[in-house]
Amino acid sequence: MMSLLPAQRSDWNRLADQVLEGHRLTFDEALSILRAPDEELLSILSAAYQIRQRHFGNRVQLYFLMNAKSGLCPEDCSYCSQSKVSEAEIPRYNILQRDKLLDGARLAAERGSKTYCIVISARGPNEREMHAVTSIVPQIKAKYDLNICACLGLLTPEQAAQLKACGVDKVNHNLNTSEAHYAEICTTHTFQDRIDTLQAVRNAGMELCSGGIIGMGEADEDVVRMAFSLRDLSVESIPVNFLNPIDGTPLAGKSDLNPRYCLKVLAMFRFANPTSEIRIAGGRELHLRSLQPLGLYAANSIFVGDYLTTRGQAPDQDYRMIEDLGFVVTRVNDAPWSPPAAESAATCGTSCGSNCGG
Ligand code: SF4
Repeated sequence: MMSLLPAQRSDWNRLADQVLEGHRLTFDEALSILRAPDEELLSILSAAYQIRQRHFGNRVQLYFLMNAKSGLCPEDCSYCSQSKVSEAEIPRYNILQRDKLLDGARLAAERGSKTYCIVISARGPNEREMHAVTSIVPQIKAKYDLNICACLGLLTPEQAAQLKACGVDKVNHNLNTSEAHYAEICTTHTFQDRIDTLQAVRNAGMELCSGGIIGMGEADEDVVRMAFSLRDLSVESIPVNFLNPIDGTPLAGKSDLNPRYCLKVLAMFRFANPTSEIRIAGGRELHLRSLQPLGLYAANSIFVGDYLTTRGQAPDQDYRMIEDLGFVVTRVNDAPWSPPAAESAATCGTSCGSNCGG
């Protein structure tokens, strides 16, 4: 490791200060976070928390997932229980009827979620699926204070425009891993296909939700490359999943993660993408285990409830964890968080000394 890379507690704090002043994390700095000895974990998290605190205060954003179509996917993503090559025992059904989608929205609202995620298993949506989504979204938004995130697979520019027109706020399409590692996890579409969809979503005027899955046999360098690809795309919301190696999938039984490494990954994402929402996604309970609360010092968001085909922790436990940390759940109509005036003035870069907030 080069000597300019952080080696002590004060160095991690200095790196956080630099990031807060606009420094773009370098490749070597990112690797040094992932490869830091476990003794430095709390110092790294403390430094990551400086960044999280500046941009998100003590707020936590909750997301609620609805698996609106399960299984039956023609793609071969090796981590996915819904792929054509998966023999996992999961429910398989076509897109849900209107009342079930509305019911999911009600549950999301009751659970304090800011965003309702409508997810289908597909290479991309067919006409019927597009119709189901574009007709239900205005009804949900008329009834509940919820943002809508749609996860429908690969999208054409026309489909992205239709989603924008019906009121979808954000589209999820994960990069999943680095470009170099992509062919190891999927052969039916490419990393570039995914980038093209994200660009279509951006061009249509929606926010991007895109992240990845850690623990699929990738190297540390792949994790960094993915974090940097997301930075290059200015992704607003980054779900960081930790592989749940489901029986019946090609990656079944693969598990070489430990909670300390998972926390370093979350911290590295925070350093690399300081202003992005970072969500601890699938695999949180399985891989962070008793260290789950520490993850929220780097990340500022979690899913509440179940994942697509696996169970999540009971919502009450999530709320208690957030409360125990002294954090609060963000509601849909909350104004964006901004740092206290004194802190703004201290970092505004002017020498006038007034609290102008500029
Ligand atoms: S495209 Fe989506 S649903 Fe289909 S196999 Fe890949 S991850 Fe699973």
